[in-house]
Amino acid sequence: MISVEKALHTVLAACRPMGLEKVDLLEAAGRVIGEDVFAPRNVPSAANSAMDGYAVRSDDTKGAHALKPVELAVVETIAAGRLPRRTVQAGQAARIMTGAVIPKGADAVVRREDTEEKGKTVLMKIAAPRGLDIRFPGEDVRQGEKVIAAGSVLRPGHIGMLAVLGKAFVAVYQRPRVAILSTGDELVDIETEPPPGKIVNSNTYSLAAQVLSCGGVPVLLGIGGDDKEDLVKKFQVARRADVILSSGGVSVGDYDFVKDVMGDIGNAMHFWQVAMRPGKPLAFGSIDGVPLFGLPGNPVSVMVSFEQFVRPFLLCMQGHTRIFRPTLTAVSAQEIKKGAGVKNFLRAVVIKEKNRYLARLTGEQGSGILKSMVEANAFIVLQEDVSHVKKGENVLVQLLEETLTGADVPA
Ligand code: AMP
Ligand code: MG
Repeated sequence: MISVEKALHTVLAACRPMGLEKVDLLEAAGRVIGEDVFAPRNVPSAANSAMDGYAVRSDDTKGAHALKPVELAVVETIAAGRLPRRTVQAGQAARIMTGAVIPKGADAVVRREDTEEKGKTVLMKIAAPRGLDIRFPGEDVRQGEKVIAAGSVLRPGHIGMLAVLGKAFVAVYQRPRVAILSTGDELVDIETEPPPGKIVNSNTYSLAAQVLSCGGVPVLLGIGGDDKEDLVKKFQVARRADVILSSGGVSVGDYDFVKDVMGDIGNAMHFWQVAMRPGKPLAFGSIDGVPLFGLPGNPVSVMVSFEQFVRPFLLCMQGHTRIFRPTLTAVSAQEIKKGAGVKNFLRAVVIKEKNRYLARLTGEQGSGILKSMVEANAFIVLQEDVSHVKKGENVLVQLLEETLTGADVPA
């Protein structure tokens, strides 16, 4: 049995990044870009107005204020998307809209609120310094500038910028195909009303949802029996995927054959059993170089193991460097007793109070109590040597969501 830290280290050491693929812009959202992006042109490409107002010669407005306005002749109106036709001469102004190109001769914009229209002329009520309310060419992005570095996660801002630069397609890390095999003679598929002695295979679905949530593509291989021959056949199919997940059959029961099969047809077995709860009977190895996680069968154990090991692994494969859930310190809302010697991942609800986070357990913590995962937005993580937490004591929590209950107050 090895520690969670050692197991994680071993798992991540086996991570090989996927290759790149060109995808269209929206498909790239949330993924990691594999190329540097340079600006093919200045943004903005030409000087344009930051306000609806009047393009003027700064010198003409010297000394102007509300009580002593300067009167200028309006020579044209320039709408966004249209080009100016006139040069602004001394004593003249051009009415201009936000985003429209600044006409020759003008070197400042006076916003409409600081003017008063008078038929064919306009009164300037302020003195406009040179450059006022003009957006200059390249002030956002300079031609040739590296705007996005390879390895960046493409957030909505990046997607907008790529659109600005005219990049309709970008190279991002491929999404790994993740084969999911649930094992157990007691399992029936979801459409079957389970007869006595049988249960519905739920792990396939919770795992598939977890795979989706971190960018992978789940490939459902259904149910494998507690039978070596059947498992060998199923794993032989599975090894065409990028990663293989199995659930069940890795414990010490008479019919737990997954790790035997991993040993027989696999060519590397890195570890079996991790000092954690839930999720102790985890096996990690590979078949023909394809990483294989032999996850435990209990519905909570399988999900906790996925969170701790498979999720960071899949993110790493997709080029992410931030692969761990955020953690924070919360106050325990209750007393917690735990056996020493293994790290615990307790299902919890974390809420934000005024200036602290409060964590409470979601109820029964058995590894078969899937309901404990339903409500949870976090794990309370208790280290191996801890055996007791008092109510009100600080605990480390790992967040499973970006938004917290009770955090619906604007920052
Ligand atoms: P095992 O590790 O195979 O001994 O399974 C441990 C427990 O998890 C048993 O109670 C199984 O019935 C249950 N289990 C195993 N696989 C699944 C699954 N795919 N869906 C729901 N429960 C499962
Ligand atoms: Mg089983």
